[in-house]
Amino acid sequence: MTPQLTISNLEVSYGKVPAVTGASLDILPGELRVILGANGAGKTTILKTILGLLKPARGSITFEGHDLLVLKPHQIHRLGIASVPEGRQLWATLSVQDNLRLGGWLLKSDEVETRIKAMFERFPRLAERRNQIAGSLSGGEQQMVAIARALVSRPKLLLMDEPSLGLAPIVVKDVFRLVREINETGVSILMVEQNAKQALNVAGWAYLLEVGSIVASGNAQTLAKTDRVKAVFLGGEA
Ligand code: ATP
Repeated sequence: MTPQLTISNLEVSYGKVPAVTGASLDILPGELRVILGANGAGKTTILKTILGLLKPARGSITFEGHDLLVLKPHQIHRLGIASVPEGRQLWATLSVQDNLRLGGWLLKSDEVETRIKAMFERFPRLAERRNQIAGSLSGGEQQMVAIARALVSRPKLLLMDEPSLGLAPIVVKDVFRLVREINETGVSILMVEQNAKQALNVAGWAYLLEVGSIVASGNAQTLAKTDRVKAVFLGGEA
């Protein structure tokens, strides 16, 4: 099968400071892949580059045959790529409903309302809180808004930056269940995570990123059993 997204030899720097130093990865349509990496490994940098927010020094990124490096962020979004950013980045003083509305900024207004309605059916907890300001929601509810906001645009590929960050363990479980359910609806997902155990449980394929380079990749279950992943990410657990 032809990959939906292909990243080849990507190099990205902040000024003279290299952040990604030759990463290659891809994702097939409908897959759920995870990039594991410690703080500062370059995970967010890769996602921001896919979204067109950073321009690489070298390498290529293609999505369904389109060269993303010549496109602006809104054009990339229009191709069907949406993101759930690190830290959720909601408009804290706006209502849940208005946050979702902003997820549909490229859609026609009647289509936005239809999609918001669909999101409220999918997430009844958000429907109950539609007029509540986002900043007053619990961490898990805020993550749900961030995910629903990304889904408003009906993406083909969802980029998720540490969706479990800062959430209580029980909520983390819910978030990963949700990630799996979204993927089961046919949306491809490229997720970056530090919570390796849960991420390897839901992902089919995983990449290990260390100081800007992919140092290992493979079937998530197989990778979870390697000494490197056990030692670095699973605290010695099997
Ligand atoms: P985390 O898990 O902490 O979010 P990450 O794997 O997502 O880490 P990145 O945020 O991609 O890592 O950062 C990769 C490297 O680039 C780090 O060394 C970081 O300090 C550096 N970096 C990130 N953003 C900037 C910036 N705006 N200016 C300069 N350096 C940056």
